[in-house]
Amino acid sequence: MRQALRNMRKSSKGKTLGDATLAIHAGENRFHLGASVGTPITRTANFTFASTKEMKRWAEGKSSAYIYTRYGNPTLATAEAKIAALEGAEAAVVTASGSAAISAALMAFLRAGDEVIATRQLYGGSYKLLRDIFPRLGIGVKHVGHDLAGIGALVSPRTKVLYVETPTNPTLRLVDLQKAAAFAREWGLISMVDSTFASPVLQKPLAMGFNVVLHSASKFLAGHSDVIAGAAAGNKVLIDKVRANMIQIGGSMDPEAAFLLIRGLKTLAVRIERQCKNAMIVAKYLKSHSKVAAVHYPGLPSHPDHNLAKRQMQDFGGMMSFEVKSGLNGARKFCDRVRVFSLAASLGGVESLVILPIYTSHYKMSAAELRAAGVAPGTVRVSVGLEDPEDLIADLCQALR
Ligand SMILES: *Cc1c(COP(=O)(O)O)cnc(C)c1O
Repeated sequence: MRQALRNMRKSSKGKTLGDATLAIHAGENRFHLGASVGTPITRTANFTFASTKEMKRWAEGKSSAYIYTRYGNPTLATAEAKIAALEGAEAAVVTASGSAAISAALMAFLRAGDEVIATRQLYGGSYKLLRDIFPRLGIGVKHVGHDLAGIGALVSPRTKVLYVETPTNPTLRLVDLQKAAAFAREWGLISMVDSTFASPVLQKPLAMGFNVVLHSASKFLAGHSDVIAGAAAGNKVLIDKVRANMIQIGGSMDPEAAFLLIRGLKTLAVRIERQCKNAMIVAKYLKSHSKVAAVHYPGLPSHPDHNLAKRQMQDFGGMMSFEVKSGLNGARKFCDRVRVFSLAASLGGVESLVILPIYTSHYKMSAAELRAAGVAPGTVRVSVGLEDPEDLIADLCQALR
């Protein structure tokens, strides 16, 4: 009998399936008469029991039947199977947002009195969760640079989690995932990485020794700027804990959102391929432009983490930032003049976007904090989409003029 590819990374002949194949077929069930080829949306809040006997079995923890969508739903399970397959994970859980995945994962392994070591350059929402919420819960936070310099002095018997993000926003610096995972193993810490900027097509943190991979699926995974979604992937024991925590905190995904995520995932591999190609063209163009002072793209040999990127990533991604020589005024003029690029928050969608970190993720930071983050007043962050590269270059050209 033909078997669904649910949670499988190998074909019936034992060959490892590629990411494009897994993204399309994992978690789908298309092998009975009249099965829908498109993924069905199970648009329901609750599910029936056939008998009180089944109900009792469920209450005793002996049944994995669906009962209520916050606990689980077939459409969510399809999205989870795809993300688990892409990350090479035993299990994944999808959530209402990337932030819900991050908070559910961290809070599953941290309690009052514990400490987390986190990289300093983090997504703004994650940074604020650690800065504003965790101290109220009695959870200590220590920060380390993306190069993990001096991390040995930060660890204590209270440290339980190492939390990193790579590549970072907006300067695209990298954390050495193998090195970070080895450190976490040595100290018995749970290692977690926010891999949103890379997507599973470009880096596989679990294979490099990480315990939990987190995504804002609102970005590359869904890829069409039309849904807020998140995911965590890892081994079953850890993900069961994240899921239990997510169920209680309440950050579950809606089946409609799961459908949009699944719809996006099916084209993830080809989108990423095109975004990487376009991004390299854009980065080289910007680098050669007389009005541009610096370009931060890991694909350029001038990027400080270029060699690490070649080692731990399949390609260099669709994200970059650059600085114009004329500072904030020049950057504002540029952003106000682009026509093919849109001036908008978020990233990873089919549309190319520009944004000024100084007015978004890095708003209200002191000059010293900006310097530490590598952000200049005139830094422009770019998310490169799927448009024709000639049109992107022509737009950059006119906007920089
Ligand atoms: C957007 C983003 C998040 C937050 O995800 P939401 O889906 O908006 O909650 C977390 N980490 C990174 C790197 C992001 O870009």
